[in-house]
Amino acid sequence: MAANREDEVRVRFAPSPTGMLHLGGARTAIYNWAFARACGGDFILRIEDTDPERSTEENTQIILRALRWLGLDWDEGPEIGGAVGPYFQTERMGTYEAALEELKAKGAAYPCFCTKERLDACRQEAEREHGGYAGYDGHCRSIPAEEAASRIAAGEPHVWRLRVPEGHGPIQFDDAVYGPMAFPADVMDDLILVRSDGSPTYNFAVVCDDANMGITHVIRGDDHLSNTPRQILIYEALGFDVPTFAHLPMILGPDGKKLSKRHGATNVEDYRDRGFLPDAMVNYLALLGWSLDGETTVISKETLCHDFSLERISKKDAVFDEEKLTWLDGVHIREMDEGAWLDAAAPWLAYARCLGERVAPGVSVHPSPTKEEQKERIRQLLAPWREVPEEAWQRALASVADERSWHAQVYPLIIERQTTFNELPDKLSYLFWGKNVALDEKSVAKVLKKEDGRAEEALRICRGVLADESIPWDADGLQEECRARGEAAELKPKLLFQPLRVAVCGNQVSPPLFESIVLLPREDVLARIDGVLETIF
Ligand code: GLU
Ligand code: ZN
Repeated sequence: MAANREDEVRVRFAPSPTGMLHLGGARTAIYNWAFARACGGDFILRIEDTDPERSTEENTQIILRALRWLGLDWDEGPEIGGAVGPYFQTERMGTYEAALEELKAKGAAYPCFCTKERLDACRQEAEREHGGYAGYDGHCRSIPAEEAASRIAAGEPHVWRLRVPEGHGPIQFDDAVYGPMAFPADVMDDLILVRSDGSPTYNFAVVCDDANMGITHVIRGDDHLSNTPRQILIYEALGFDVPTFAHLPMILGPDGKKLSKRHGATNVEDYRDRGFLPDAMVNYLALLGWSLDGETTVISKETLCHDFSLERISKKDAVFDEEKLTWLDGVHIREMDEGAWLDAAAPWLAYARCLGERVAPGVSVHPSPTKEEQKERIRQLLAPWREVPEEAWQRALASVADERSWHAQVYPLIIERQTTFNELPDKLSYLFWGKNVALDEKSVAKVLKKEDGRAEEALRICRGVLADESIPWDADGLQEECRARGEAAELKPKLLFQPLRVAVCGNQVSPPLFESIVLLPREDVLARIDGVLETIF
């Protein structure tokens, strides 16, 4: 079935399930998906699983899961089927056989009996004599049909090659990103279509599938650019319309080299496990090589589905910048309402509880990490609850669900200052310390043991207010009363409140103090202050 290209856009994402979905693959998927949505066309997912050694069912599932997490829904493909399926190449072998038969009948494919030894020798000789190998020399092109047939009948191993027409002019196409391209056909060797074991090569299978599935636009990484002229020769031999090609620029790491594991996580699900929001990922990846108007940085899926166009894809390689992604993630977090935030925060709040409950009994003092160490620790937090014993984990998760309205009060404390979800455990574990306190060493030195010696006095003043049951357990009221009593003792708010912050939250940079205090039971707050008064002064 070939779709009518005038009225319908059909694009595909065609991953090989030989590994996880990496960032480059995700960007390719996003561009195809957004283009289909913006044109009212179809987005097809096809699994290219012809490499039996490296393709696994598990990888296929991981890729589907990652696409679903990103919110990239497909109109045809695995699990939902469609009119031109199946959507796994291993289930389409009959279509490649039929295409090969057609080419044989036209004389456009011929068997090649060359041994690996012969081909290796040709290559070595060409490299020695001419400084490079221009490809297969056409040795078997002119074997008479009867001879070829009897050698095949005798079981001689052979591959099938495309007979590139002699005198073919340059292979030209107008790439939607790179513009007009021309490759001389006479340097194209007769490429292999079907291997000696009967399996199709990538170039052959991809053309058969794209043509049979009515694909109108092939949008893929520019690592495939050199395959395109070969594929065009196959389209021509089969008499198919050639689709429009759009090759995407590379994604580079900050050092200017192709993005790879060396640069840190390149697996999409690692970002999920670090708490990044799928909308932020899609937003960020969409902008790696495409722009809405050259300046807008915050883009919703809706906008993408409305305004994506091939014209605005850049030829320039894009540089992956995790800081920018992190910043964008924060922007998308701030757009979440309380309910959406709670849903996304649930495992992280549960893990904060697990951390909090693990704090040593009483008052303990802990070395202060540097800013860099702290950042690095957060970067490393990848679904950390996997390490929590199952039973404790279930209990922590259940508490977030059961006490949803209590946890909802954490939302206003943190929403303005949060950039990723995996920073919540460190920032919020103090809410779950109970009567214990884990003090940050520097804060002890700078605040509690400050030379002016007024920290203890400040703590005692605040303790008096917090212990006074006639004052409602309300952030503003408590803060006002503390301030008034501090003023009476000539203690400025900063001198008064910093010791309290350290005693209750452990450090000087916690979320808003009194809003935190009122989330805790009075007896826990008093126990923390008393513990600090006893051990530090
Ligand atoms: N399976 C190929 C890949 O993952 C698809 C290439 C294409 O889009 O043509 O690289
Ligand atoms: Zn040969």
